[in-house]
Amino acid sequence: MRIGFIGLGHMGAAIAANLAKAKHEVAVWNRSADKARPLLEAGATLARSPRDAAAGKDVVLTMLADDSALEAVLRGEDGLLAGLPAGALHVSMSTIAVATADRLSALHAEHRQRYLSAPVFGRPEAAAAAKLFIVAAGAAQDITTATPLFEAVGQRVFQVGDKPSAANLVKLCGNFMILSAVETMAEAMTLAEKGGVPKAKLFEVIIGTLFDAPVYRTYGAILVEQRFRPAGFAAPLGLKDMRLVGQAAEAQRVPMPLLSLLRDHLLETLAKEGEDIDWSGIGRTIARNAGL
Ligand code: NAP
Repeated sequence: MRIGFIGLGHMGAAIAANLAKAKHEVAVWNRSADKARPLLEAGATLARSPRDAAAGKDVVLTMLADDSALEAVLRGEDGLLAGLPAGALHVSMSTIAVATADRLSALHAEHRQRYLSAPVFGRPEAAAAAKLFIVAAGAAQDITTATPLFEAVGQRVFQVGDKPSAANLVKLCGNFMILSAVETMAEAMTLAEKGGVPKAKLFEVIIGTLFDAPVYRTYGAILVEQRFRPAGFAAPLGLKDMRLVGQAAEAQRVPMPLLSLLRDHLLETLAKEGEDIDWSGIGRTIARNAGL
């Protein structure tokens, strides 16, 4: 398939590489052009602008930091909207606001283009191993078009509705639950450690008994090893996600008291540790608050 790929950060670079490996014709664009070099060596071509990345393609995929980054590549003379042919498909994989996905959907319809939300679960290592979980929502025909691409980058696709923003809502719910799991594990590990039991021992017991799930395995190991740098998922992006969860919760009038606590722990971590820490670095803040 002829595709454009925009956004070669931690996640995008790995996803685009797998698309090139699966023999799709991939044209890549990134704001910082140097990040495209490994992709060009893997057979991709360099697009001069988001418009160029989308022009003449069947599908353009975006994997950008946040709503404003997506907005920046979308608009203007050199933007994706100006390049994407009528009838072609934009697959947005970034974690963005529900309201933004609704706006994008309408905007593409005005341009007679198609739009699918397909955010993902899985850190950069999972992206590199083509083991992402993809949460897709949109028209059935659009999901069918994107399926060969999803197969090249992920292990499973969940279809959650025909309104694209449903996928973004599911993704935000999931990220809220991931950080909640990190919070509870970090609090429990801190208690164990202060009480004289190494956190590695607690980890062995929890995943060997009732908590044998990927989220506890992945983040429990990070907490035990204090592997907070380099960040796989940076705390500023985690804060962005908790803000988006809050916006969705406000819109639906859903009180989420735990969300406020998670947001504050992320803020405290960013204030004390700087912007380059992983979002699971809240574990360090939780331990320090207990005097460890
Ligand atoms: P990242 O490494 O920080 O990459 C962000 C990308 O966005 C880079 O390509 C960056 O370009 C681009 N960008 C930022 N601001 C821009 C702007 N104003 N205009 C144009 N491009 C801009 O982030 P990531 O970890 O790959 O995450 C990407 C998305 O996936 C986010 O929405 C994140 O929430 C989501 N996600 C991440 C993970 C994870 O574990 N990392 C897992 C699931 C989902 P430059 O290279 O020029 O900075």
